[in-house]
Amino acid sequence: MERLEPLDKLERLGKAAQYDMCGSCLNPKGDPLAHRQKGNLGHWIYPAALPDGKHILLMKVLMSNVCENNCLYCVNRSGIDRPVFSFNPQELADLFMKMFYEQLVQGLFLSSAIYKDVRQTMDRMIRTVEILRYIYRFRGFIHLKILPGADLGHMEKAVKLADRVSVNLEAPSSSRLKRIAPEKKYSEELLSRVRFLSKLINQANHGKRWGPKGQTTQFVVGAASEPDTEILALTKNLYDRLDLSRIYFSAFQPAKDTPMDSLKPTPLVREHRLYQVDFLFRRYGFTMEEIGFDDKGLLPLRKDPKMIWAENHPEVFPLEVNTASKELLLRVPGFGPTTVKRLLEVRREHKINCISQLHMMGAVIKNSQGYILLNGSSPGRSRTSQIEIWEPEKVHFGETTTLSPV
Ligand code: SF4
Repeated sequence: MERLEPLDKLERLGKAAQYDMCGSCLNPKGDPLAHRQKGNLGHWIYPAALPDGKHILLMKVLMSNVCENNCLYCVNRSGIDRPVFSFNPQELADLFMKMFYEQLVQGLFLSSAIYKDVRQTMDRMIRTVEILRYIYRFRGFIHLKILPGADLGHMEKAVKLADRVSVNLEAPSSSRLKRIAPEKKYSEELLSRVRFLSKLINQANHGKRWGPKGQTTQFVVGAASEPDTEILALTKNLYDRLDLSRIYFSAFQPAKDTPMDSLKPTPLVREHRLYQVDFLFRRYGFTMEEIGFDDKGLLPLRKDPKMIWAENHPEVFPLEVNTASKELLLRVPGFGPTTVKRLLEVRREHKINCISQLHMMGAVIKNSQGYILLNGSSPGRSRTSQIEIWEPEKVHFGETTTLSPV
């Protein structure tokens, strides 16, 4: 293993952490790909949004890039000839605090490849966070990755120490995972950990111990030829049954010198469509049955899934804005949850008479025209002239800024 100064290690191990999307990274330019990019301050600093809506700069880094596993898509897999580095806990904690006092970062996202074995790697990660919390009294945001097959004691400590924890499921089933990460055991090492963390987080939040906790996960999209139906059915279940805070989708991009380097990359717009449906589940009350898929089980790439739902339900539209229920207003293309909330507040006081009022409430008028009535009259252009247009609106929902299906 090469010896390097801590800052040089940070540069290398921060770069190696870029593939993990579980950092709630902001999408600063309204660009569907921007959440995959590093911040402009270095390979290891990422702008991120916290669950309470505050924006912070996260140090995003791996404890080590030396891995025992052989996941076929991963640049850190064993057997690849490359320089390898590891932090020791004190070294990483000291470096983080130095950056924190210099006001370069406010929070930490800590992940790792599996160095020697899972137990030893988790020990080092937990020790790093213990030093930060107990010795340096750091009270800021920490996201701690839980490695496949981590033991229960480590998970209990992780939930106690960190604000966010995450296990990367990577694929929607055991058979799909085998195609990309043959050594990982889906049920025993991954799903069981997600379930256990959910229980621990529930207890911690219920008992109001150690502040609010949350769990996220990530899927690699397209690497195992899985359809979107499989990813989204599991996504919905994870939100409904295990109360996950967020689920991230990472379009597969072949990495050089890996066994999958000759495969085609997954179009990034597919990742974007998955995020749009994720919003429809979490913020708009859509069910799995209401999402439109093609005959291969994929989301159509050309159109926003909410617009597709509206096109397929002519019996619902046009909708009278002054009387429609909240649930139906949320189905109008161009109306997001914030718009609907404002609209309902205004409607309690007086009628909404013109389109500019809706615009002021945040509605994307070019999408909603043709789907609404104002006091019985259509406010404008025909529906069919709008449906080919897809121009996503940048919206902030308090957790992360992303492109919403409005
Ligand atoms: S466990 Fe797999 S995905 Fe994670 S670092 Fe190792 S090889 Fe990469």
